[in-house]
Amino acid sequence: MKQLQNRVAVITGGASGIGRALALELAGRGCDLALVDLNRAGLDEAAERARASGRKVSTHIADVADRERMAKLPEEVLAEHGRVHILANNAGVNASGAIGEISVEDFEWVIGINFWGVVHGCHFFLPHLKQQDEAHIVNLSSMFGFIGVPESAAYCSTKFAVRGFSETLWTELAGTGVGVTSVHPGGVKTNIVRSQRTHDPENHAEFVDQFEKAARMSPEAAAKRIVRAIEKNKQRQRICAESYLTDWLKRALPNATQHLMATIYRRRGGVL
Ligand code: NAD
Repeated sequence: MKQLQNRVAVITGGASGIGRALALELAGRGCDLALVDLNRAGLDEAAERARASGRKVSTHIADVADRERMAKLPEEVLAEHGRVHILANNAGVNASGAIGEISVEDFEWVIGINFWGVVHGCHFFLPHLKQQDEAHIVNLSSMFGFIGVPESAAYCSTKFAVRGFSETLWTELAGTGVGVTSVHPGGVKTNIVRSQRTHDPENHAEFVDQFEKAARMSPEAAAKRIVRAIEKNKQRQRICAESYLTDWLKRALPNATQHLMATIYRRRGGVL
């Protein structure tokens, strides 16, 4: 998109982490916002901070996995803002556990939010985005959309799926006024691990601690890269050095990279 000033952006998962930082960055760049989340307190806090930039901000409690609720969302956003130019399908969750151990319910929960949430957002907002002179869709995949990671099958499955979905959508919309970016972050310091469903509650606090030490990028820095990708109409945006490295390794040495992952997993006694 060439122009961000006076545009309207819908951001799912806008109450925390990358979604909230993206909201503040876009408000600072002159966008009005419709923030979508399940977390009322987080939404109110993010909205109040975004309003400090002088922009109009509406909040919408919605579960992105809920098809009927998502079908009604565009109407609600249009009633507040009259139009929509940017859709960031950002809401996401994780549930850990090896295949056969992670419950089917947790698997479905992750797929509902991370994959169906993206499908619902695109399906229900696309007709409205197409009415604008220029518009953009951002779908949050991950570095885990490049590589299969042990004990993260549900998460990896959805992030691979979001990559395929976004490439298809990009191809269908090429040459129209609607751009599509698939975003692939590495470790960004947010609440994603703290709030995940875990197969190993006893060691969860330690796992959160390890993630927070390893995740070096701030959500604000990630949000700046996403906004630049919107402005440059990039097909995909990798974020963090480890995301570039993983992508490169998987393309150069697809089998050897997966062997390396298995070796590390075995050496650590089936823990990653
Ligand atoms: P976060 O936990 O800080 O924020 C996620 C937000 O999504 C929260 O506000 C949460 O309430 C909301 N949410 C969860 N379920 C929802 C639902 N059913 N409906 C609506 N909202 C819901 O996490 P984050 O790291 O900011 O995650 C944002 C996106 O970035 C996710 O898609 C995640 O998979 C992706 N991502 C994050 C990282 C990272 O290291 N943080 C890496 C790669 C990809």
